[in-house]
Amino acid sequence: MARLALVTGGTRGIGAAIARRLAADGLRVAVNYRGNEAAAQEFARDSGLPVFRWDVADHQSCIDGVRGVERDLGQGIDVLVNNAGITRDAMLHRMSLQQWRDVLQDDLDALFHMCGAVIEGMRGRGWGRIVNISSINGQKGQLGQTNYAAAKAGVIGFTKALALESARKGITVNAVAPGYTDTEMLASIDAAVLDAIKAQIPVGRLGRPEEIAHAVSFLVDERAGFVTGATLAVNGGQYLA
Ligand code: NDP
Repeated sequence: MARLALVTGGTRGIGAAIARRLAADGLRVAVNYRGNEAAAQEFARDSGLPVFRWDVADHQSCIDGVRGVERDLGQGIDVLVNNAGITRDAMLHRMSLQQWRDVLQDDLDALFHMCGAVIEGMRGRGWGRIVNISSINGQKGQLGQTNYAAAKAGVIGFTKALALESARKGITVNAVAPGYTDTEMLASIDAAVLDAIKAQIPVGRLGRPEEIAHAVSFLVDERAGFVTGATLAVNGGQYLA
């Protein structure tokens, strides 16, 4: 039987490209989303993949959501891609506690919730692939993103620690750190700021969701069992010391 993958935040943007790519690679794929029902239904119609609604920032919802996917599809989750994420940008002197908490819960707490919900099953079956989507801004920082940079740097530390815990159990845990990628997440960025960002990217353009999905596909592959604890930068050539 084909392995089962779950992609969080997989109905739009980078997650949707990852879900489609893993399906094209021959995996069974289930897709999670939080609240944009119209986008989710359109994605489901178009891709033919099953979609499941829950909030990855909520611990019990993740446990129930994972159980629901496994029950509906009749097998355990072998591949988890923690892709769901948000930004709530503001300079620290203007950032509200709510903006801080929303981002930490969505982008970092979710990894604890989701990995916790699947890890026993993977350990029991002796095989698993976990890919966590970080960000270039977790590696280098960014103005107005103390919350997001802290969460995405946390993703990398979490990945390294869980990789060590899981290495003897046939489970790899890696991070992908995209550079700026052409999705709705960038819609809130001022056009002039976006032009300045593009000018700093050696390849001279934004990333495409399919290019991030290609990196995830590589890490999820059966033959990638010796790659674990890594952070794969997919950022158009920006050098990070
Ligand atoms: P989008 O805003 O385009 O899509 C986000 C997806 O995540 C949606 O499907 C959304 O669901 C889902 N989502 C958000 N919060 C939750 C939640 N709490 N529970 C369940 N689902 C949730 O984002 P991108 O595709 O741009 O980003 C994907 C990932 O890549 C994020 O982790 C982001 O931080 C990271 N990244 C993005 C970069 C970029 O330039 N775009 C650069 C570097 C990293 P719904 O539609 O229901 O709201």
